[in-house]
Amino acid sequence: MANGKRDYYEVLGVNKNASETEIKKAYRRLALKYHPDKNPGDKEAESQFKELSESYAVLSDGQKRATYDQFGHAGLGGGGGFSSEGFGFGGSPFEDIFGDIFGDIFGGGGGGGRRSRGRRGDDLRYNLSIAFEEAAFGLETQIEVPRHLACKACEGSGAKSGTGPITCHTCKGAGQVRYQQGFFSLTRPCPDCAGAGKIIENPCPECRGSGKVKSMKTLSLKIPAGVETGSRLKLNAEGDLGSHGGPPGDLYVVLTVKDHPLFQREGQDVICETPISIVQAALGCELEVPTLDGKVKLKIPAGTQSGKVLNLAGKGIPVLQGYGRGDQLVVVRVETPTKLTSRQKELLEEFAHEGGVDINPMGKGFFDKVKDLFD
Ligand SMILES: [Zn+2]
Ligand SMILES: [Zn+2]
Repeated sequence: MANGKRDYYEVLGVNKNASETEIKKAYRRLALKYHPDKNPGDKEAESQFKELSESYAVLSDGQKRATYDQFGHAGLGGGGGFSSEGFGFGGSPFEDIFGDIFGDIFGGGGGGGRRSRGRRGDDLRYNLSIAFEEAAFGLETQIEVPRHLACKACEGSGAKSGTGPITCHTCKGAGQVRYQQGFFSLTRPCPDCAGAGKIIENPCPECRGSGKVKSMKTLSLKIPAGVETGSRLKLNAEGDLGSHGGPPGDLYVVLTVKDHPLFQREGQDVICETPISIVQAALGCELEVPTLDGKVKLKIPAGTQSGKVLNLAGKGIPVLQGYGRGDQLVVVRVETPTKLTSRQKELLEEFAHEGGVDINPMGKGFFDKVKDLFD
């Protein structure tokens, strides 16, 4: 999966030591160009936008950027740190999750083109870190999300109790005003009531007329098995409150999977390095290796080379919203002993006298080739 990916810096058109601001700027410029809202039905733009989002997700995150600088795509694991695939919770995968970036570009405050009076609430993003095992098998948890709720004192109207909003004098309740530009008669949201059509003369003291109060809400969350860093869950209508009767936004929970001390993930497969001694490698042995399901016995055949990959079928990560699991790949590392007793040295020297060098299969091939080259 890591193969064939373009360099993230190249995607954003910035150089390796670009500052955070430069990266953000480049992203905004390109995101405007390729955003699906601007290119409906254009698959090319869609995939460019995906690539762009992925690049930005990595380069805007100091830690991920450092990992990427050091190890490239491989360092970020199978998914490259960002998955724009939804989970079938509905909605376009491209809805605004980078609130801070897009908030002022798309669907922004001034009701850009929106006719309805009520403005939809903002989408919220909640970053959640989960353990490697939790990502593999899923979990049910609760999160506390700060957001606006309707003010109880005024029931969200913003008007002091006993009073109500009155019709705006400027637009006479239409929410829009007409103005002339050259030959054209245009409309824009009313500046006095911000498009609401009504104004509040006596604001509610609890919420100062906004109709909203800040509060925390506890939400139950069911994270499916097989998610990865960058996966996101969409919770419909759990975002910020809309204003003037507009619908609430959505909440996106964006997941970060913590590193595991033993396991690494590559797509659906779990990779685990296992050190063995030269004796175990040469004579073969049975090992207990850790897996996501606990310890499992693994037979190391005699004559196993360092770097050999042994497969534990079905011990990997479950397929997200699908069936089956990946495998665990056990990478065998043969360790050369560093502290030998004099007796051990003696034995190894004896071993060498028995033709210990000639029996190395790769060594032999290598020295034959050297011979062919120089003789
Ligand atoms: Zn209030
Ligand atoms: Zn008005």
